[in-house]
Amino acid sequence: FLFVSPPSKSFYHSLFLSDTLGSNDSAANHLYILTRRPHIAGTEANAETAAYVLSTLSSYNIKSRMVDYKVSLTYPVSRSLTLAPTPKDTPIKFSLQQETYKGDPYADEAKEVVTFHGYGKSGTAVGPVVYVNYGRVEDFAVLKEMKVNVTGKVVLARYGQIFRGDIVGNAYAEGATGVLIFTDRKDYGGGGGDAKWFPDDKWMPPSGVQMGSVFKGVGDPTTPGWPSSGECERLSEDEVEKGGDVPLIPSLPISWFDGDRILRSLGGQVANADWQGGKDAPVYKVGPGPGIVNLSYMGKQVLSAIHNVIGIIEGVEEPDRFIILGNHRDAWTFGAVDPNSGTAALLEVANRMRKLQSKGWRPRRTIIFCSWDAEEYGLTGSTEWVEENRELLASRAVVYMNVDIAVQGVGFYVSATPQLDELLVKATKQVQDPDNSSQSIYQSWTSSGVNPVIGRLGGGGSDYSAFVQHVGIPATDLSFGEDYPVYHSLYDDFTWMKKFGDPMFQRHVAVSSIWGLIALQLADEEFLPFNYLSYAEELQRSSKDLKKELLDKGIDLSPLFSSIRELKKAATKINNEIKVLQDRKRGWTSAWKNDDHKARELNDRLMMAERAFTDREGLSGRPWYKHLIYAPAKHDDYGSKSFPGIDDAIQTAKSLNTKHSWQLVQHEVWRVSRVIKHASLVLRGEL
Ligand code: GLU
Ligand code: CA
Ligand code: ZN
Ligand code: ZN
Repeated sequence: FLFVSPPSKSFYHSLFLSDTLGSNDSAANHLYILTRRPHIAGTEANAETAAYVLSTLSSYNIKSRMVDYKVSLTYPVSRSLTLAPTPKDTPIKFSLQQETYKGDPYADEAKEVVTFHGYGKSGTAVGPVVYVNYGRVEDFAVLKEMKVNVTGKVVLARYGQIFRGDIVGNAYAEGATGVLIFTDRKDYGGGGGDAKWFPDDKWMPPSGVQMGSVFKGVGDPTTPGWPSSGECERLSEDEVEKGGDVPLIPSLPISWFDGDRILRSLGGQVANADWQGGKDAPVYKVGPGPGIVNLSYMGKQVLSAIHNVIGIIEGVEEPDRFIILGNHRDAWTFGAVDPNSGTAALLEVANRMRKLQSKGWRPRRTIIFCSWDAEEYGLTGSTEWVEENRELLASRAVVYMNVDIAVQGVGFYVSATPQLDELLVKATKQVQDPDNSSQSIYQSWTSSGVNPVIGRLGGGGSDYSAFVQHVGIPATDLSFGEDYPVYHSLYDDFTWMKKFGDPMFQRHVAVSSIWGLIALQLADEEFLPFNYLSYAEELQRSSKDLKKELLDKGIDLSPLFSSIRELKKAATKINNEIKVLQDRKRGWTSAWKNDDHKARELNDRLMMAERAFTDREGLSGRPWYKHLIYAPAKHDDYGSKSFPGIDDAIQTAKSLNTKHSWQLVQHEVWRVSRVIKHASLVLRGEL
């Protein structure tokens, strides 16, 4: 008689890592199929990608279905842009067309691509142009110092530093009547000079345009905070406009070539050195005028069907605990990088998990695959789903793991809520660097001798937002490469990926390895691999920065520091409790009757501690954002802010400088201290 014990979980996890045979090819094949046509949210072409993901997941034995919503999206009807270099000149008309090249396999499909801004305001703006650099609050402050008035002007901003919706919002706040945002060759064209562009090099061609949303909110603008199911309450257009998140002046995205032409028509003062262009660029002046533009945009709002695809592998021991992986599927054009490199990686993870299942593996907890729609308009598919399932997710979701762009270049980049730091670092030691087979991702990541850098999930850049910032679910977001020049343009296609992004597709495979490995560990380990000590340390660092910023402002930060000390103690306590129970379960001391219950109870404390950082009322003036530790920066949706409520209050106090405004800073300090205290109570698990 031979007793064969079933393979251990870690046996299956190693198998998952070793089973990459054929993955490069199948990832490439998924990507090729998903990116044959442009597939903006709400179109028939994107419904087809949903059907592809659904049938692929189903063929992997994953129970999958479509979850649809009806959301308000906008599409272009007409656009025009003219420039009169001086008031006397006859205006030149811009074509606003991105050019294809000889032999472009996608030339026919490219014809349907019309550049515009999602949720752009319909209307016409005519007037002299003012150049505003990156359109940040500080750029407008510089113009004020230069005594250049923006009121009544059309502004020309360049892409690259902040979320475009904030560029339009900042311009509106300064009284501008219209906004043009161009792609500067300096930032996206290899610096200018004789740098080549796609298809000869990775850089953005002269006619390339970055599309994108200019909506500053989250989800369907007509259903803030509740799901856009077929029949539901909706805000009127007026109410949406009063909400302040949709732009109130028209805007258009334009190319480097067109931006350059407008810049050459400007006189006035020469812009600062850091406002200038790249090699061979003209001298940038700020205007106003004499160049006069006539910008006209007409869009239509359409209540559109969007399709999330949800696939489930049910857990055996704890089916009511959710490990969620998500990626969006909709794209402004072909979406080879953004987001379907991530979709290909998601399908690879699913396929490799199917193979584990065929060898007998069953996860302890439930694994959920999500393919989101309409991320590009405002994180809409994921947000509506989270709004619809808020309570269930709040009581059952262990973690949300996002991948938007899986591959845009070289090098590993990750952001996470801090209790996941340790798990992430460990996982990178187990996966080989796709660009250097002699070392792990961890070794390359830390090769310059520095500690691994893990970003934080405050920004509104992708679908983790509702999970972290609305419900308080621990989350991660990962990618190879930090950015890429043809972002949101016509040239984000399979050819670009094949030539420049990931010619051998081994980076795609590496993303699915690390994404899947983390998911498996979170799904299978008896004790959740969360460490709140790193959360406490991170909060301590942020608090020290805050202390420096608030020197001599009369703000008492001791409640904050003391709440963090308590969090540290609570984190140490629960880590010890886990250790004791683990030893007992391994049989080193005698087991107790209720040990399985006890394990579940400890895991629940680990899962719920992140929820405690949320507050029912949310951030002052931004009530959808419930998380008081992380949120987008107020004037840059891409930027991540720690203690956003305190930061908002500081900015207001700095400009008003009244006693009351500084008292509000103190109030926000108390609020943050209270949620940290809540988190330590949850971790302690005692009343
Ligand atoms: N990721 C999209 C973008 O960068 C959407 C961001 C948002 O709406 O917050 O345009
Ligand atoms: Ca909604
Ligand atoms: Zn994306
Ligand atoms: Zn995008």
